[in-house]
Amino acid sequence: MRAVVFEEFGKIAGVRDVPDPVPSDQGVVVRVEATGLCRSDWHGWMGHDPDITLPHVPGHELAGVVEAVGSAVVNWRPGDRVTVPFVCACGRCSACAAGAQQVCERQTQPGFTHWGSFAQYVALEQADVNLVAVPEELSFAMAAGLGCRFATAFRAVVGQGRVGPGEWVAVHGCGGVGLSAVMIAVACGARVVAVDVSARALELARAFGAAACVDASAHPGGAGEAVRELTGGGAHLSLDALGSPVTCAASVRSLRWQGRHVQVGLLPTAAGDPAVPMSRVTGLELEILGSHGMAAHDYPPMMDMVRAGVLRPDLLVTSTIALEAAPAALAAMGTAPGAGVTIIEPAK
Ligand SMILES: [Zn+2]
Ligand SMILES: [Zn+2]
Repeated sequence: MRAVVFEEFGKIAGVRDVPDPVPSDQGVVVRVEATGLCRSDWHGWMGHDPDITLPHVPGHELAGVVEAVGSAVVNWRPGDRVTVPFVCACGRCSACAAGAQQVCERQTQPGFTHWGSFAQYVALEQADVNLVAVPEELSFAMAAGLGCRFATAFRAVVGQGRVGPGEWVAVHGCGGVGLSAVMIAVACGARVVAVDVSARALELARAFGAAACVDASAHPGGAGEAVRELTGGGAHLSLDALGSPVTCAASVRSLRWQGRHVQVGLLPTAAGDPAVPMSRVTGLELEILGSHGMAAHDYPPMMDMVRAGVLRPDLLVTSTIALEAAPAALAAMGTAPGAGVTIIEPAK
């Protein structure tokens, strides 16, 4: 099969032939129809993820068709249209037993712990625990983002964030996950303040229903106060959808009393833990929450909203490229992450 392979961290990847994957007993091999390009892929390529060993094939936001199934797989057959959460759970640890597969103690992540979906085929583990059916009416490009940015945003806003109608929700960082969060919060009846340094990102956020926008480049120390002013005292719920010390602290500073901060953006461990204004956490009784993907069994309410057209992940897709163009696009994520989402179609 053809795959995007990098042999060294930070050095432009190649596209070459590698052996086809074979399914494990409880796994499947999926023919990749669409796979999203994510900032996490860029972090992996740069060497920021300790799980990655070289040579490596990135890619974790995928949708496609089951090509082959392992002998112990019960629920899936070749030809099934599927997607998968970026956290693939083991199905047997204490977290899995509690229904918290998104924090599985023995998780695998395609494109990180093993070769990913910037390829014609990808192997996925524990298919009966992790695969999610993609209905016919959803395109693969639309479904590709569900496993990472969209499901992550859904759990952050609805699950961990417990958004309520009429609440103010601040979203710091309007890339793929941030714009997804804007769309989801608006669909839940919240009033959204979008925060980003990019005019294009804020324009998209406004198009997805944000009630107010804050240009973060005018607030180099963080846009917390600007959000508190706009919302008449602070947001009820605030997300750091980027993952940086500035946006993390700004998100916490955005909150009113008893507000909820959800950390969604991954903070690279190499930079150390960010300074969080904990005095506000005690004084205002704030909640600090994390959100890490979403378990496959939690997908149905999100899928219902997507099928009904209430949520439109397809609107986040701003470009579609072939596998051959993926190495350059991956490298460009660091300097020009852009607004919206790029989808790679390996079959074309
Ligand atoms: Zn991702
Ligand atoms: Zn587990």
